[in-house]
Amino acid sequence: MKAQGIIRFLKNTPNQNSVLNSFSKAGIDVVSCGRELSDHEAAVIRSAITKISDKIGTSETESLFGGTKLFAGESLIDGGGLALPRFNAVVIDLEKIGVTISQMEDMLSATGDYRVGDQSRLVDSPEIYEASELGIVHELGHILEYKIYGDVDKGFTKLDQSDAPTEYGSKSAREDYAESFMYYIYGGHLDSDRLGIVESDIMVRR
Ligand SMILES: [Zn+2]
Repeated sequence: MKAQGIIRFLKNTPNQNSVLNSFSKAGIDVVSCGRELSDHEAAVIRSAITKISDKIGTSETESLFGGTKLFAGESLIDGGGLALPRFNAVVIDLEKIGVTISQMEDMLSATGDYRVGDQSRLVDSPEIYEASELGIVHELGHILEYKIYGDVDKGFTKLDQSDAPTEYGSKSAREDYAESFMYYIYGGHLDSDRLGIVESDIMVRR
């Protein structure tokens, strides 16, 4: 696509008709598109944002992601999530909520996009855990890189992408960065180069 469709969509978003049961959390404006969010869908989105604020602090989350819009709807994009850093926005597909990490890894390991374990090692029960929650954190990682560097593919360009924490992260510096941010938030192992850059980018003080 669909990029053109999304850009058109974003330009029209101030139209209140598309704003249904929207809410804000830690400075992130969650905008439901086309229909209301179910309680479960809203809970998955809240949980992703809570994971970030639990790890880095609420005021830090607000200062990094304040004003970021998270559009949630069906059939807005081709995949499960899309970051639009220049719009300070991410889009997630509600149809993907309900797919567990185990199901996602089974599907994507067949195409070579993911390895089994890439997400499932980060949570206790991947057979029931929503892959979309981690996906939202990944997309916000793209927003973070853009905010810090003024573009994507900047933070990790000096690193060897074959050392990325996941198969998906090995595809490009930007995906490495987003996957490493996700790993950081969920307490996964990162090498010292990635850990150092991510921590300094979110200004974690120890
Ligand atoms: Zn990505």
